[in-house]
Amino acid sequence: MAAPARADGLACYSPPMAKTSAQPYRVLARKYRPSDFTGLIGQEALVRTLSNAFAIQRIAHAFMLTGVRGVGKTTTARIIARALNCIGPDGKRTDPTIQPCGKCEPCVSISESRNVDVQEMDAASRTGIDDIREIIEGVRYAPVAARYKVYIIDEVHMLSKQAFNGLLKTLEEPPPHVKFVFATTEIRKVPVTVLSRCQRFDLRRIDSAELAAYLAGLAEKEKVKIEEGALALIARAAEGSARDGLSLLDQAIAHGEGEMITADTVRLLLGLADRGRVLDIFEKLMGGKLSEGLTDLGALYDAGADPLAVMQDLLETTHFLTRVKVAPAAQGFFDGGSGEAKRAADLAAKLSVASLTRAWQILLKGLFEVRDATRPISACEMALIRLAYAAELPPTDKLVKDLLEGGAMPAPRASGASAPPPSFRAPVASGSAMPARAAMPEGAPTASIRNLEDIVALCEPRSELRVNLEHNVHLVHLEPGRIEIRPTARAPRTLANDLQAKLRAVTGERWTVSIANQGGAPTLAEQKQLAKTARFEVVAQEPMVRAVLDRFPGAEIVAVRDVASDDVAPAMPESDS
Ligand SMILES: [Zn+2]
Repeated sequence: MAAPARADGLACYSPPMAKTSAQPYRVLARKYRPSDFTGLIGQEALVRTLSNAFAIQRIAHAFMLTGVRGVGKTTTARIIARALNCIGPDGKRTDPTIQPCGKCEPCVSISESRNVDVQEMDAASRTGIDDIREIIEGVRYAPVAARYKVYIIDEVHMLSKQAFNGLLKTLEEPPPHVKFVFATTEIRKVPVTVLSRCQRFDLRRIDSAELAAYLAGLAEKEKVKIEEGALALIARAAEGSARDGLSLLDQAIAHGEGEMITADTVRLLLGLADRGRVLDIFEKLMGGKLSEGLTDLGALYDAGADPLAVMQDLLETTHFLTRVKVAPAAQGFFDGGSGEAKRAADLAAKLSVASLTRAWQILLKGLFEVRDATRPISACEMALIRLAYAAELPPTDKLVKDLLEGGAMPAPRASGASAPPPSFRAPVASGSAMPARAAMPEGAPTASIRNLEDIVALCEPRSELRVNLEHNVHLVHLEPGRIEIRPTARAPRTLANDLQAKLRAVTGERWTVSIANQGGAPTLAEQKQLAKTARFEVVAQEPMVRAVLDRFPGAEIVAVRDVASDDVAPAMPESDS
């Protein structure tokens, strides 16, 4: 980083005190808290501006440091306090310096938070006028030992209106020996009257590549072996916060127990799913392969992935694909040049911006639901089901055009991209008395059976096997000649045998039917119910429907019908008032 070079040639990084084995382990965030600006990563703009101000002796009376949590606001505030008060190793320095020595009494006492002239206050716990009054009164007296009295007020936006007003008077005419350093995560809540009297610095989120490089340096100092991929994962999870990055690295070190820390270890630690597998799920859902997508989700979940992290990754995937569509060279969630990035680009080419935008909305809503759900995995499944159904709907503009022209709104399908067209499967789906054979007049070759629905379509309507396949079977795996299912408790014991016999009868080939104890997609009946709910939600998001719902308070959607099959107005809400 572009840190100012020290004139005396001394290393600016102050190494941690040599520790003996008797000393307790110090967390990295404390051990490597920067003691001067050179140790502050990712804040070059701030350092440059401050350096200039110090160089020309135009130091503001009040500083306002803003930025997300963990970017180094409090650390910066303390460094400023040291910079203002450093007297140098020989005690002879008379002016503030941008390069505090870290050795003199003021430097040491400030970093240990025991300097009487440097006061730190957390406005989150002391918000009242009385707390501020203490400061205001103290301001009148000269510093006891230091050059400047420095008041560091953290989370300053939490102060009461009265407290701000009290502070304002002091800020208007601060005595020359007093400096204020304010820090806040919510700059918008700070009154403009206060802001206008401060020099403001926006501490930026630390770029994940920069943070990864920083962590790599620390790992080397700590003699910790860690893969590059593992560092990248930590840096990404830290979301621009050095403090979070350090604490995650701490956890990874503890977890690694002296062994090489791999990307897999970190993924496990963070409850992260493999990005390639997340891309698989997204691709399947957007292609309408709902059962397969849900099976993949189940496998990830069983492997320890956190549903919330999966949702976040799906959102990141959507974001990446959308960006790739707009700017093909986009970098981000998938590393440029990797196989996943290539696959993502291919997928992006197939999807419209409209469908990606819709996916984003559904996933974002799902993210909050997963976060608040008592069973996050269920909420995650719900969101994925909605996504698969929405992916099948035509874009809104086309939908509206079709409606206006009296055209058909195709029924969404979500069970295999290769599902037969509606006209082909409608008689079966509606449970009419037509013999099922009619749906597959030439029998069914093994290869044509791609999902549970295909098997159901081969069963006699209302037959016991068909009802059981619809209500009592979770499909775990299906490939030609082999099917793995998890029957519900209500399923008859003969189900596996019945299914095997049926498959053999219709395909003329031998099938292996195996029983799993866990996993699998929701039953077809569950999927149908979920899909119905999902369709209502998707339809409710359509602008036309939303407009109607807004116009008629109390109106609700009671049915969604396809023009194609029912020949009635689709998706129109019925007011009950
Ligand atoms: Zn010093």
